[in-house]
Amino acid sequence: MSDSSLPPQPSLLGQARRLNIAGLVPFSTVDWPGKIVASVFCQGCPWRCTYCQNYEILDFKVPGAVPFAELEDLLGRRKKLLDGVVFSGGEALAQAALIPAASWVKGQGFQVGLHAAGAYPSRLQEMLTADLLDWVGLDIKAMPTDYRKVTGVAGAAKAFACLETLLASGVNYEVRLTIYPGHPGKVVELARDLATRGVKNFALQQARKLGASPEFTAQAAGWDSQVKTWAKEIKELGFANFSFRPA
Ligand code: SF4
Repeated sequence: MSDSSLPPQPSLLGQARRLNIAGLVPFSTVDWPGKIVASVFCQGCPWRCTYCQNYEILDFKVPGAVPFAELEDLLGRRKKLLDGVVFSGGEALAQAALIPAASWVKGQGFQVGLHAAGAYPSRLQEMLTADLLDWVGLDIKAMPTDYRKVTGVAGAAKAFACLETLLASGVNYEVRLTIYPGHPGKVVELARDLATRGVKNFALQQARKLGASPEFTAQAAGWDSQVKTWAKEIKELGFANFSFRPA
């Protein structure tokens, strides 16, 4: 079969346009510390974290609400106003179209950041190897033995594989732990374990109560002071960069 008989391959932009996007925030100063970015929320996540505030975008079968063309248009207008684009979710790495999407964004002269829950280590490796990522915010949700209690699945092996891949890559990153009333705990032990694994940039995030269930609120008594105590103890572990983000 000659090459001319093969069906034409979609262009890079054509492949990027397959990204299923649930939401687009045109201007954010919080999604990538120190950068002004547009944030793309990708549809779908295989995990079901009890504290998730994006539950309405977890279903992979729901079609995206935002065409990729909106991002094209935005970046065309904000060439000098944005540092980059952060792909978030849901779990952005779940979609194969993330790779051409990130590649297209980089081709437009923007940096690319990624929020990852850690469910797809192979795709993270592929993106890092292809030099498509300038920064990664990686969630580590609990000690390995407690992962299922947070995510509803046994995701620890994949998440810690992502961590190892990320640390080996040399790409800028932040490892984040989000805690909430009812979290399985061992918070300081987990931070210490991460430090031992070589994590230098670590953030402790307190899940917001806004919009949370009555059960969440009921368990929150005395919670703020407990979280502050953990933050103080973690600070003493000596991470090169430690951020505490209270609710
Ligand atoms: S991994 Fe993130 S998006 Fe997925 S359920 Fe958990 S908190 Fe929600």
